[in-house]
Formats: sequence, C-alpha cells, structure tokens
Amino acid sequence: MKYRRIIVWFRNDLRVHDHAPLFSASENGAELIPVYCFDPRMFSRENLGFPKTGPHRAKFLLQAVDNLRSKLREIGSDLIICQGKPEEVIYDLAVELQADAVYFSEEVTSEEKFVEESLEKNLWKKGVKTESFWQSTLFHLEDLPFPVSQVPEVFTQFRKECEKYGKIRKTLTTPAKLRFPDLNRSLGDLPDMSTYGLEEPESDPRTVLVFEGGEEAGLRRLQTYFWENDCLKDYKQTRNGLIGADYSSKFSPWLALGCLSPRYIFEEVKRYEIERKKNQSTYWLIFELIWRDYFRFISKKHGEKIFMLQGIKSHVDKWQTDEKLFWKWANGETGIPFVDANMRELNATGFMSNRGRQNVASFLVNDLGIDWTWGAAYFESQLIDYDVCSNWGNWMYVAGVGNDPRENRYFNILRQAQNYDKKGEYVRIWVPELSSVEGFGVHHPHELSTKDLKAKGVSLGASYPHPIVKFKAYL
Ligand SMILES: Cc1cc2nc3c(=O)[nH]c(=O)nc-3n(C[C@H](O)[C@H](O)[C@H](O)COP(=O)(O)OP(=O)(O)OC[C@H]3O[C@@H](n4cnc5c(N)ncnc54)[C@H](O)[C@@H]3O)c2cc1C
Repeated sequence: MKYRRIIVWFRNDLRVHDHAPLFSASENGAELIPVYCFDPRMFSRENLGFPKTGPHRAKFLLQAVDNLRSKLREIGSDLIICQGKPEEVIYDLAVELQADAVYFSEEVTSEEKFVEESLEKNLWKKGVKTESFWQSTLFHLEDLPFPVSQVPEVFTQFRKECEKYGKIRKTLTTPAKLRFPDLNRSLGDLPDMSTYGLEEPESDPRTVLVFEGGEEAGLRRLQTYFWENDCLKDYKQTRNGLIGADYSSKFSPWLALGCLSPRYIFEEVKRYEIERKKNQSTYWLIFELIWRDYFRFISKKHGEKIFMLQGIKSHVDKWQTDEKLFWKWANGETGIPFVDANMRELNATGFMSNRGRQNVASFLVNDLGIDWTWGAAYFESQLIDYDVCSNWGNWMYVAGVGNDPRENRYFNILRQAQNYDKKGEYVRIWVPELSSVEGFGVHHPHELSTKDLKAKGVSLGASYPHPIVKFKAYL
C-alpha cells in the first residue's frame, strides 16, 4: 500500500542497518518520521524497591537512542524523541503529524504486546494503518520449520530442526537517503537520568569492556572482536572465561537493544569463515545465537507463563521470600567469594559473564531457595544486556521450571570456581578485602585458620562476611 507519510516507531531495534520497518517504509517512497518514546513504566520501582531499569541499563539506552539520532541524520533523516506511554504519545503524534501509517517491530512478551495492541486499537479508530515487522531473531518467524505453537520444548530439537529446515534471510540494505519532512516543531531532547530518579553510574576501571550504547559502538565491537583481535577462531575455548574483554563476544548489550542485527553477525561469521578460518568456534557463536532465538520463540509460544513462579513446566515448588537473604545475595555479601565477586561485578558495571550468571542464579535458587522471579527481576534492573526472553528464559531453566530435560541444574560453586577461577584471580579483582589471600584459598576463606587469616588482614564477620549457608559437599 502506498502511503504519504509514515511514522517509524523504534523500540528494541535501535539501528539503521538490516532494519525491516525502515527499509520497508523507505521502499514505499513515503515521507518518513522516526520516533523513539521513553516509557516511564520502564523505570518504575519493583516491589523489592529497585527500579525496573537501573542506572547502567538506562545510561546504555540513552547512548543508544542518541546514536540512533546521529545515524538517522547521516542519511538525511532525524529522530523525534518523546516521553510517555507510547500507545498514547505515538497516537497523538500520528494525529498531529497527519501520518497515514505507523511501522514498528513486533515484540513477544505481555507488557510490550499490551502497548502495541493498544496503539493499534487507538490508531485504527482514526483510520491510521499499522504494520508490524518481525526482526529480532536470526531465523525469521515465518521461516521456522514449525508453527510457533509447536516450537519444540527442548533446545537441541529446536536447533537441529532450524539448522536442517530453516533458513536465514539476507540482511536488508540500509537506506541511502530518507525523506524527513519539514515539521516545524521541536524534535525533543534526550531525557536526563534524574527524570527517572536515577543517578549517572560511576564508571569502574575493572569493567571487562567500556560498553557504549548505540549501533556505531556495536559495529565497532564486532570489528574489534572478529577482525582486529581475531578472537572468533578461539571462541569455543574462551567463552567460559571471567576476566577481560575478549573471552566472549560481548555482543549481548547491543543485541538486546537491537543496535546489532543477529543476521549481520551471522553474515560476518560466514565472511570470517571464508577469509580467516572456519572451525568449531565459528560455528559455536551461531549456536549461541540460536539459543537466543529459542528463548524468544519459547516466550512467544508460552506468553505470560515465563514470568510465573511455576514457569512453563507448571512446576510447583516451595520458595523462600526472605528479603534479608535476598539482599545479601544482591549486594554481594554472602560470604561465598565466587558469588560475591560476580554480583559485585554486575552492580558495578551492569555486566556479568555467562558462567557467573549460571552460578549466582543457581546459588540463589538452589542454595538459598529464594523465589527465582526475584533474581530475574534484579537482573532485569541491572543488566545492560537485559533481554526479556533471554533473561526470564534462562532463569526458568536454572530454577527448574523451564523445559530443560536435565532435572538437576545445581551448580556446585566451589567446583565451578575450581574449574573457572582456579588461581582465584577473578575473586581478587572484585573482592578486594580478600586480595592478599593467595591461590585457591580465596574461594574458601572460612576454611583457613584464624592465624592465616589474621596474617592476610582478614577478619571473618568483620572485614568479610561468614558464609550465609553451609555447603553439604565441597569439591
Ligand atoms: C540467569 C541468566 C540470565 C541471563 N540473562 C540474559 C539477558 O538478560 N540477556 C542476554 O542477552 N543474555 C542473558 N543470558 C545469557 C548469557 O549469559 C549472555 O547472553 C552472555 O553472557 C552475553 O555475553 P556475550 O555477548 O559475550 O556472549 P557470547 O558468549 O559471546 O554469545 C554470543 C551471543 O549469543 C547469545 N547467547 C549466548 N548465551 C546465551 C544464552 N544462554 N541464552 C540466550 N542467548 C545467549 C547472546 O545474544 C550473546 O551475545 C542470561 C544467562 C543466565 C544464566
């Protein structure tokens, strides 16, 4: 259908490359008005008192929106930045600017669905058309070898069928020039963090990477990781690391906000395989991206259930709701150095390795027995790569209410520490009060003699907490 003027409403797709609504709107030949709307509900306080979007995540988002505006300006367009409920604000804009259509990318989870469906309903009454586009995954929804209602529950089956029968579409070209009308109105500024009751987070020199929001920084990260530092060929061996920028790709924050397209990453992996090397590692990065797809399609299939205590397995368990214990976990004060180090890294930087996430999640769920949805909500607030499907999906898995065929997802923390931080280097970075405890001893200070501890300047219960739980089995 030919339109005169289209609003492209940006959501978690903050880029101009491989962007279906932008591409389609520009093909249409219409005047095009890109809009981003900050929704105050994204910053509201959770029951436990923390904001739904914490300072690290908010900062990364603001940078990403700012960069989107620059990228759009480079191709002759611009970005209207507004605040409020999108179902009302985008509606008002469409009426004010006399747009005849609104394009946007489709989301899958309840809050996002509510917003897009309400907007569609409101616009329909005014005769403004809406078109939604699927674009967050590697495999397009329409190219799956099964209907979404029949997405296999088990990851391996999902992956094998997608690999065998699915196809990955080519990336869409970035429009060279867009027609942005003369609007004769303010385009709006980025809000201040304080608008949402947040303070600018301090940058911590120990961060694995200086994460900067936006398409440009995302593309730069890919360039560095794949091409300059040539890390992809070793990814499978390094991906369980804990220290430094290059043990894994660190693409997740940019993927979460759509600053990087997974199909673009896929094409770059294929190019790398031709120009540099093809091996298990190059395949493994795609394997991990399929995990990401899997959680998105599972979320679409199961809807609200992914946020419920009993999960998609409808498994009823007894969960503790002990706030004191929860906050010891969240603040990195459990007295279990490997858990504390990871939680402190998260709090200080907004990022944590995959290995770390599995361990701290298992600890909260299995060792403390605390309501897993509290942990998921805390991650939602803190993680700069928060992705609704990957986060709640992974938490369900760890909590045993997902669809993992392996029943026991218990992580023995000390055994994990032995495998992944044998010399205690990671813990010493994030738990400085134990930094003079050498070697693996830093993982179990409570087992060292008082004399030894005194010599290292550690006083359990004073400078560092006693462990809040006793482990039955150690190694
Ligand atoms: C409890 C828990 C919560 C998590 N919450 C999130 C979240 O909110 N957002 C998020 O992107 N990932 C989440 N993950 C998955 C994973 O930890 C991160 O994707 C990964 O650590 C990001 O670092 P990376 O980009 O360097 O990953 P890499 O190892 O370089 O992997 C490349 C990409 O593959 C995808 N990927 C890798 N592992 C997974 C996985 N297990 N599930 C889904 N996608 C994966 C990511 O998009 C990642 O960027 C969570 C994992 C756990 C155990």
